[in-house]
Amino acid sequence: MRSSIFVTAIASLMLLAQCSTAQNNTTMTDKSKNPYYSRTETKKLNVPESEWKKILPDGVYRIAREQGTEYAFSGKYWKTDVKGTYYCAVCGNPLFKSTAKFASSCGWPSFFETIRKNSVNYLQDDSHGMSRIEVECGRCDSHLGHIFDDGPAPTYKRYCMNSAVLDFEEDK
Ligand code: FE
Repeated sequence: MRSSIFVTAIASLMLLAQCSTAQNNTTMTDKSKNPYYSRTETKKLNVPESEWKKILPDGVYRIAREQGTEYAFSGKYWKTDVKGTYYCAVCGNPLFKSTAKFASSCGWPSFFETIRKNSVNYLQDDSHGMSRIEVECGRCDSHLGHIFDDGPAPTYKRYCMNSAVLDFEEDK
């Protein structure tokens, strides 16, 4: 009896470990496998989708290259206020400083301005029966999220981003 409880406990622990590994594998980018990742290079990238598909974890690829959206309140950065810089998880392009991040009730990480004017591109998006402005990475053209006009001063913009396509480094 005691040994069967022990076996069940071990099996449960292994299952838990597997679940957390699976979650990490779907969104964490292994930069050593991504030759395009650079936090200093600004030259535009033109990489075939088939290549991104091979390099990026499924969870990143689905949002970045297939215009996906993560569930509200599910991403790793929607609630954080740690000081640092947010980079594109696909190519390393610097996107936002934490000083431009604000607490938003929408459930996605929200910023009122980008690091540089050309950090991102803006595109009209009429999908899903809505008229929105899509925000793409200015270097690799990956989908990051959308921008809305209900942000705080000084810009009154809200860059509503997906955590899965952001790569954060804390200030030293
Ligand atoms: Fe990028």
